[in-house]
Amino acid sequence: MIIVLKKHTTREQIDGILELIKAQGLKPLYMPGTEKVVLGALGDERKLAGLQLENLPFVEKVVPILTPYKLASRDLYPTETVLTVGEEAVGTPNFTVIAGPCSVENEEQIMTTAEFVSSLGIKFLRGGAFKPRSSPYAFQGLGVEGLKLLAAASKQYQLNIVTEVMSPDEVEVVAQHAHILQIGARNMYNIRLLEAVGATQKPVLLKRGMSATIEDLLMSAEYVLDRGNRNVILCERGIRTFENAYRNTLDITAVPVLKQKTHLPVIVDPSHAAGYREFVVPLAKAALVSGADGIIVETHPDPAQALSDGRQSLYFKQLTTLMRQLRNLASIEGKILP
Ligand code: PEP
Ligand code: MN
Repeated sequence: MIIVLKKHTTREQIDGILELIKAQGLKPLYMPGTEKVVLGALGDERKLAGLQLENLPFVEKVVPILTPYKLASRDLYPTETVLTVGEEAVGTPNFTVIAGPCSVENEEQIMTTAEFVSSLGIKFLRGGAFKPRSSPYAFQGLGVEGLKLLAAASKQYQLNIVTEVMSPDEVEVVAQHAHILQIGARNMYNIRLLEAVGATQKPVLLKRGMSATIEDLLMSAEYVLDRGNRNVILCERGIRTFENAYRNTLDITAVPVLKQKTHLPVIVDPSHAAGYREFVVPLAKAALVSGADGIIVETHPDPAQALSDGRQSLYFKQLTTLMRQLRNLASIEGKILP
């Protein structure tokens, strides 16, 4: 529920309402604006209805938030969230490019990639150290050793690190080395993990589950936001459909729909959506034009030798072309891609 107060409402009156909200076992929110003060009450709205706040002389209006997600909703926060990660801004109108291998494999591979990515002006390096593989027999990642290699690459090339965290007990160690904690598609519904990353202040890149609805994704984001971490980036990475000519179906419609429903930055992963590198470049460009705030894309110095997702990893040359094309599109679309 949103409570809009009239101009000149006193601090005492505001505190009085916040106390009332708390006394009902609801979560109060205080959102001072330049013009007016807006308050929020999260929880069972029936409890609040009984208070009839609209009858107070300094209350302008009381508006219910009709969506099941609240903190993620544009109803509550109409202005775009822009996150600060290191020296970079993530969120509209910035277009953020995150690039790197699927997995961290060894020092040479990650350093070579970091050097190349940074030479293109990219500020974010991806790479999985803890890998959620579909098969228990596939490469599972280097673990903490991989995190250390990422940290070294970050230091040498001034890159912000994006890497996946798979379980609540690994949040601390991953957060020590990463700038953005990635929650993978397979873990989008892992409530304990969402709560654990929500208890940190680290930016979280939340990927859409392969069969998750847009509302499911926003409800998962809500768990992180509700724990006090407001630094959430959403990621559309393709969903499962009947189509099997490619790995997943990029739900490009999700981008403008999410942008309408939420103030959180929305990025696209064209690599896991496509599964084949030849489709990654067009999907990445579609992402920018559809209104996404960035992409996360896989690249590898030698894709044929990659230990995971080589078939969808771009050759460096392809990434160079993609960056040039994205910069052109960004200038047409009014996005910032330095
Ligand atoms: C990844 O980014 O390497 C990954 C495993 O992605 P997803 O969780 O989207 O499958
Ligand atoms: Mn991958």
